[in-house]
Amino acid sequence: MKNLTISKLAEKKIQAGQQLLEARDFPNLEASDQLVRLINASGRFLGQAYLSLQNKGIGWFLSTEKIELSHAYFTHLFRKARQKRSSYEQSELTTAYRVFNQDGDDFGGLSIDLYGEYALFSWYNTFVYHLKDVIVAAFQEVFPECLGGYEKIRFKGLDYESAHLYGKESPDQFLILENGIAYNVFLNDGLMTGLFLDQHEVRQDLIDGLAAGQKVLNVFSYTAGFSVAAAIGGATETTSVDLARRSVNLSKAHFLANGLDLASHRFVVMDVFDYFKYAKRHGLIFDMIIIDPPSFARNKKQTFSVTKDYHKLIAQSLHILAPQGLIIASTNASNLSVDQFKKELEKGFGEIKHTYLNLKQLPTDFTTREGSNYLKVFTIKVSK
Ligand code: SAH
Repeated sequence: MKNLTISKLAEKKIQAGQQLLEARDFPNLEASDQLVRLINASGRFLGQAYLSLQNKGIGWFLSTEKIELSHAYFTHLFRKARQKRSSYEQSELTTAYRVFNQDGDDFGGLSIDLYGEYALFSWYNTFVYHLKDVIVAAFQEVFPECLGGYEKIRFKGLDYESAHLYGKESPDQFLILENGIAYNVFLNDGLMTGLFLDQHEVRQDLIDGLAAGQKVLNVFSYTAGFSVAAAIGGATETTSVDLARRSVNLSKAHFLANGLDLASHRFVVMDVFDYFKYAKRHGLIFDMIIIDPPSFARNKKQTFSVTKDYHKLIAQSLHILAPQGLIIASTNASNLSVDQFKKELEKGFGEIKHTYLNLKQLPTDFTTREGSNYLKVFTIKVSK
């Protein structure tokens, strides 16, 4: 195994708990896809890591001890991870959650979600991808009740992004429960599954009263998970806006799975910026606007990036928000800190008075380490 000497800065990050190895800390690194021993500037052994190029980062620190990536190693990791989620496991109201979250569970580059009786593996780099046989076998030993598994390829270079992996095949679409609400999901159609599990605490807030009596606008709504939660929580009306045509039927499926009448719920296929203009022109006013865009999107007309354009979403929302309205502003952009996100929001609010009521980050099943809590969701009360 190769020795890799690392800089003082990289050593500091690791000591602070960060496991992601960042390219900027390893200039001129040529090696990839292997286990390495990390050595500090004075020659001391720091631990083991693996190198493999990802969308973000060039590898992961694994352990301060010597390890072998064996069946026993992974069963140990999976048992620990399962133990941490015992409250989820015992809940009859939630059947979909994350059971293994990368560095939060001491193995970056791999996440595993449960969707009812099926498991969904995400591989973030080729090194983990090539370990899949040992990983899946260990998983099956620790989760024998899981009927089958699927995989998502979250790195570049393969000619597929989703496939059946082992065991029984799931129905094309099926229902899972989250906080007692049914959602319609699918495990083998692109990278998405019909529900973003990392937002379950935000949906819980909507169910628990945040949306009661409110007229809600949900933009970048995808399958309208937030709208369903708001409707269950007593929202009088919801409007869900997404550019993707197929989002309409998927959204309706969520509503119908919960016996909700569709009469007071609208689904609009439109670019969000066009919708803001449309709503303003028609004098539409909402009590609550939920904004959860992708980090980056390109359509025929324009590109959108959270780091540069989020403030526009806030500024446009203010035109169609009730005088004492609420904005829920979410981003999953990992390259933006909480403070940087807040700055971007401030730019959008300008002189308009507003109060931050709370900030939600990743829920407890998405265990994190230093630097890996990418989710930021502010609930903001506006006074116009
Ligand atoms: N808020 C959603 C997840 C959003 S995923 C949830 O909680 O489930 C991002 C969505 O934004 C995708 O469905 C994509 O189709 C949509 N999207 C991207 N650019 C858009 C645009 N300019 N206007 C409207 N929707 C857009």
